[in-house]
Amino acid sequence: TEEMMVRSEKMTIAGQLAAGIAHEIRNPLTSLKGFLQLLQAGVSHKEEYFHVMIDEIDKIEAITSELLFISKPLTENRRKESVEQMIEDVIVLLQPQAKLKNIDLVVQQPIHGEIYCDRSQIKQVLINLVKNAIEAMHTVGKITLSVNCNHESVDVSIADEGNGIPDDILHKLGEPFFTTKQSGTGLGLLISKQILDSHNATLKIKQNKIKGSTFQLVFSK
Ligand code: ADP
Ligand code: MG
Repeated sequence: TEEMMVRSEKMTIAGQLAAGIAHEIRNPLTSLKGFLQLLQAGVSHKEEYFHVMIDEIDKIEAITSELLFISKPLTENRRKESVEQMIEDVIVLLQPQAKLKNIDLVVQQPIHGEIYCDRSQIKQVLINLVKNAIEAMHTVGKITLSVNCNHESVDVSIADEGNGIPDDILHKLGEPFFTTKQSGTGLGLLISKQILDSHNATLKIKQNKIKGSTFQLVFSK
């Protein structure tokens, strides 16, 4: 039945996560141990070693804090929320990171619409997607957030001018720990998809005509 399928799918993700965590955390730990042994043996160039060790610890820290988010019991707090307010909050939060790269966060007006949702969870999804958009862009450009309300749904789109997504990795997006980034965790889209699932919302990914990609959240009414 449908419920059983949903449940076994979740088990698979849990299993994948467990295997992934072991792997993702063991690698930096192995490397940390190696550097500690070198330091214990009294090598020179200590500064460099410390630098690498801190990077490895950062990686473990990033993974564990994202996992904490996944394992958080869903104390849901759903009500009608203004899309505009959530987008504004997310922009305030990510503006500094965008400015550093000369990226404009543009909100296409008018924005209206309400979604019945858990505000902090949907904000988390928007943060993950806008962060990815910022990280996909190397140079000056803009990220456009827009909302389209119709009879059936409220759609929120985030369009970037980044590198786009190569066709051969498109199907891997959202797999636990799939990342193409040096210091990525590969958990952002997984968490986002799970939150959207629980809201009966979907995530559509499209390549833009000229440059970059668009991630669209569809909340059915
Ligand atoms: P992370 O950001 O830690 O890599 P995510 O789950 O957020 O993990 O994203 C997984 C991968 O999906 C990224 O490493 C990247 O390859 C790809 N991706 C996500 N968003 C975008 C985007 N806006 N443009 C291009 N690639 C993207
Ligand atoms: Mg991400």
